[in-house]
Amino acid sequence: MDLHYTDEDLAFRDQVRAFLDSHLPLDIQDKVRRHRRLSKDDYVRWHRILARQGWVAPGWPAEFGGPGWTPLQRHLFDEECALAGTPRVMPFGINMVAPVIMAFGNQAQKDYYLPRILSCEDWWCQGYSEPGAGSDLASLKTTAVRDGDHYIVNGQKTWTTLAQYADMIFCLVRTDQGVRKQEGISFLLVDMHAPGVTVRPIIMLDEDHEVNEVFFDNVRVPVANLVGQENRGWTYAKYLLGHERTNIAAVGVAKRELAFVKRLAAREQKSGRPLIEDPLFAARVAALEIELMALEMTVLRVLAREDQAPGPEASVLKVKGTEIQQGLTELMVEAAGPMALPFDAAYLEGEREHSLAGDDDAAPLASYYFNYRKTSIYGGSNEIQRNIITQMILGL
Ligand SMILES: Cc1cc2nc3c(=O)[nH]c(=O)nc-3n(C[C@H](O)[C@H](O)[C@H](O)COP(=O)(O)OP(=O)(O)OC[C@H]3O[C@@H](n4cnc5c(N)ncnc54)[C@H](O)[C@@H]3O)c2cc1C
Repeated sequence: MDLHYTDEDLAFRDQVRAFLDSHLPLDIQDKVRRHRRLSKDDYVRWHRILARQGWVAPGWPAEFGGPGWTPLQRHLFDEECALAGTPRVMPFGINMVAPVIMAFGNQAQKDYYLPRILSCEDWWCQGYSEPGAGSDLASLKTTAVRDGDHYIVNGQKTWTTLAQYADMIFCLVRTDQGVRKQEGISFLLVDMHAPGVTVRPIIMLDEDHEVNEVFFDNVRVPVANLVGQENRGWTYAKYLLGHERTNIAAVGVAKRELAFVKRLAAREQKSGRPLIEDPLFAARVAALEIELMALEMTVLRVLAREDQAPGPEASVLKVKGTEIQQGLTELMVEAAGPMALPFDAAYLEGEREHSLAGDDDAAPLASYYFNYRKTSIYGGSNEIQRNIITQMILGL
């Protein structure tokens, strides 16, 4: 692999930088850089700015509205966005359900949903997990029973990220009880505003409302909202998870956070000596940086196989990416020391300009650290990814 950028690549990077300089709203950039919480409006605003430029779906084929970039251009774009401090584009529409609709949906579904995903007309959420079906996802119990032109959906999903904002949910539902559990599952698109859908918040350890329970009580869903064939949903579900795990690697964000760790550790401590001068701490920072470089190369190799959807190698990216992200939050908290401990919700929410404890860099870090424990659980836990790697890559 040639790791040098061509003049064309560098010109592309300059174009992205110039766009970000002139179009990224400063209030959103400030929240991202300071690890403060983003609102729905922040995400939608940034999504629509990118959509107007034609850059919101870098991975989509040009025929559906993608920019037609090479894998390296996509990587450069992600990196520049992360370094500039843009919010992540919510993955549920662009990176999760859209590839499934493109690959397995009918023409009417492509025509209707894909433009609305691009423009953020619909906010999507993911209805896979249930109270008894997380790692063992195929045990899911939510049922969809055919009634003329509709399915009647009953059951419960859980851990549904930002379902409180959602207009649509893509759901795995059981449509056949009498077969092997993987063979009786279908992939259904459900209107979150339909009668019988209830969203109940789950408040996390960092006091944030990020996840929810979603209940379906005799919800009528048109049969036209079935993606692909009935009882073939397990195949589509796995296809989607490959896209989800590649996205979770988030190399650009990790680079920005690594720079932040170094900046924090370079601050003078009470002892008068910055932490980065401690050889043990410096060695841990270096070890993480090396891991991150290796991850970046691996992401590029996966992206370079343009012709294929991400396979089990996406599990490697998921495990390494999330371990690095968690490692970075650990180093941040250590570098900030006791100043990371006070919990200042008003500062996190942007209700107060400066943190009560007087250290704005440190104030969000305990919350950020706790929040990031999720990354080795969601998208299929890292233990499950290791099982996949063992079976599908190592062949054991
Ligand atoms: C913040 C957050 C957001 C999420 N967002 C969404 C969302 O938007 N939509 C959605 O559908 N889901 C979402 N999830 C759910 C997530 O995908 C599940 O939590 C995950 O798949 C694990 O399932 P579980 O929680 O039921 O744990 P369990 O499956 O009960 O696992 C418990 C523990 O046992 C381990 N374990 C289980 N089986 C095995 C095995 N065979 N081998 C080795 N170890 C095993 C697991 O690794 C884990 O450590 C989210 C989760 C979190 C934490």
